[in-house]
Amino acid sequence: MKTSFYQYNFEALTNLLIENDLSPSGATLLYNWHYKQKKLKPCTHNVALATQNFIHEHFSFSMPEIVDVHESKDQTVKFLMQMEDGQKVETVLIPFQNKYTICISTQVGCAMKCSFCFTGTQGLKRHLKTEEIIGQFIIADRWLRKHRPEDQQLKNIVYMGQGEPLHNFDAVKTASEIFLDQHGTSIGVQKITVSTAGYLPGLIRWNEEMPGVNIALSLHSPFEEKRNKLIPINQRYPLSEILKCIDLIPLKRKQYIIYEYLLIKNYNDTDVDAHATGELLKGKQAIINLIPFNPFPGSEYERPELAQVEQFQKILESYQLPALIRGTKGDDILAACGQLNTKA
Ligand code: SAH
Repeated sequence: MKTSFYQYNFEALTNLLIENDLSPSGATLLYNWHYKQKKLKPCTHNVALATQNFIHEHFSFSMPEIVDVHESKDQTVKFLMQMEDGQKVETVLIPFQNKYTICISTQVGCAMKCSFCFTGTQGLKRHLKTEEIIGQFIIADRWLRKHRPEDQQLKNIVYMGQGEPLHNFDAVKTASEIFLDQHGTSIGVQKITVSTAGYLPGLIRWNEEMPGVNIALSLHSPFEEKRNKLIPINQRYPLSEILKCIDLIPLKRKQYIIYEYLLIKNYNDTDVDAHATGELLKGKQAIINLIPFNPFPGSEYERPELAQVEQFQKILESYQLPALIRGTKGDDILAACGQLNTKA
């Protein structure tokens, strides 16, 4: 049976070639061909005949297929991508000054069941494979170069699409190793962010195995009780434990932990919540992203008024904490945070 070329990090590919009595230099050539030159067809250039035969016999190069594209007024693009078995996920390109950040999905659905999240209502169908994570990047990047050639390439990756990335640890780790690899896309370690609802076993492993990659924690409340209701996994892995783990991460001078704070009207958006969040995070190397709740069909919560969001921001700033109000890019096409759902 053929395996996907895109599931091998550089070391695994090198070892595979060696095990098959082929020159390990093939790994450099193949990474260059597929990830730097961005070719989709198998490489025949400069590659020894024995290696070419091996490639044909052992590798498949299939990619997710774009089955739908929505372009927002603000230039956000949302793709519906179909995997080989017919399962679909969404991938979003978020523009910022001619550059794009890609928001990648890591699971079909999600097991976390957060009460404010559209994806959570789907339940978990399955984990995505490494090649399906890599595939979202390759396909979105191709689309961008074809449809918006004047814009710059993607250089930022956030695992903030559908799914809990740390719950699909191995595939997300291998995909990240491939993105980071010097022989290929060579994305900077500071340009990748993994966002977690607080899945502690994954977080502990991530810090050991993937140091330097940015971490974003979906905080959403400084109070355990309130957080339990928003993020049920908090009952098993409480915020206090998560923060203990995060506080042990060695950070460079200009490196920060991102705390995402979803603001829900009359639930976690009051001055009391803001002060408690300030007390909790003060003195930490933190950036806080305030995300006003994005409604979706059937959601039980409401978005706060902008004035309240700004008030929340001011209170955090009084604790010397930088707090950014995250735009709601793509909300006209249901591509904003928490609006991704592919059940239909
Ligand atoms: N599972 C990961 C990554 C996916 S969600 C995590 O929980 O961090 C990416 C961000 O969007 C998270 O901070 C999530 O809490 C937020 N989000 C989910 N639903 C939302 C909604 N309806 N409105 C605004 N943000 C939402």
